[in-house]
Amino acid sequence: MRFYLKTFGCQMNVADSDFMSEKLINTGYEKRNDISKADIIIANTCTVRQHAEERAFSFIGELKQLKIKNAKLKIFVTGCVASRLKEKLKKKFPYIDKIILATEIENFSEIVKDAIDITPEKPKTKPPTEVGGYKNLGTEFITITKGCSNFCSYCVVPLVRGPEISRPKKDILADVKKLISQGRSEITLLGQNVNSYKSGKFDFSDLMIELNKIPQLKKIGFMTSHPKDMSDKIINTIASCKKVTRQIHLPVQSGSNKILKLMNRKYTREKYLKIIKKLKNRIPGVAVTTDIIVGFPTETEKDFQQTLDIIKKAGFTKAFNFKYSPRENTEAFNMKDDVPMSVKKERLARLNTIFYNKTS
Ligand code: SF4
Repeated sequence: MRFYLKTFGCQMNVADSDFMSEKLINTGYEKRNDISKADIIIANTCTVRQHAEERAFSFIGELKQLKIKNAKLKIFVTGCVASRLKEKLKKKFPYIDKIILATEIENFSEIVKDAIDITPEKPKTKPPTEVGGYKNLGTEFITITKGCSNFCSYCVVPLVRGPEISRPKKDILADVKKLISQGRSEITLLGQNVNSYKSGKFDFSDLMIELNKIPQLKKIGFMTSHPKDMSDKIINTIASCKKVTRQIHLPVQSGSNKILKLMNRKYTREKYLKIIKKLKNRIPGVAVTTDIIVGFPTETEKDFQQTLDIIKKAGFTKAFNFKYSPRENTEAFNMKDDVPMSVKKERLARLNTIFYNKTS
């Protein structure tokens, strides 16, 4: 029995896909890259931007022909689109066998057990995986927080993944131990707001210190950090833990205080630049990457100039730039999407040129 798994979106989805793959592999299924030969197809979807959602819909639409050819084929749809638009998916694609909400993935085996032949699990050594075109080249992802409670005004994550929950320390250490027993030595800690991790009194710095002491671990990464939680304690811990990454992804989103406030990001450009200064002073060789959204409601050329300015001052090594797209039920959805598409495109092109010139 073979399965094909397509992952859209962020590293959290990649980690969730890894989890589902492992469950299926341990129950005797084989992972295949040829979709036409699969007995099970899983679409792990993303809804963070309109474009991602459209890609997921188009992929699911294409599965109809495969289902017509092979009535025994099982199709499962999960991830953030499943959470946000379950009823719409059911109506539009009645051939989907199971819709699994993003928050239900940990019960994956239980949910699909009546649809497929799941024999009792026999844990196997997990081979390096390839998930939906993403090649795992060494690091293994460990989710340490689930959900998000920040409610950035443009973001659907808190709505589809629920409030932030930190996993207990013992569960994380058990995952690390298991990976080490499989010969892995590099891990990346994952969370929508990874640096706000807190389980009782045990916080993100304590976790890094604990992991740094494990001799078999060689490299410890983490993503995604929120600037509001990048405390002095965390910066000092990164500086003192030699195995912890010197590459930090710290989304700024905008350089304009007016836009940051409307985005509900809970920091100012001055505070952000102060954090960058501390990171650079205390962690020699640190490389900071970022995310930027252009064309947020009311963004003027002056606001955009502030974004260009913060890019120059922060000295990012890389940026993931996006055009704002309104997402239903978010706070920003009620704001007028008043920046014309032509202006969003032009600002995005200007940003991309800066980073292209930097890396070329
Ligand atoms: S921190 Fe903001 S942008 Fe990131 S997942 Fe949470 S709400 Fe969304």
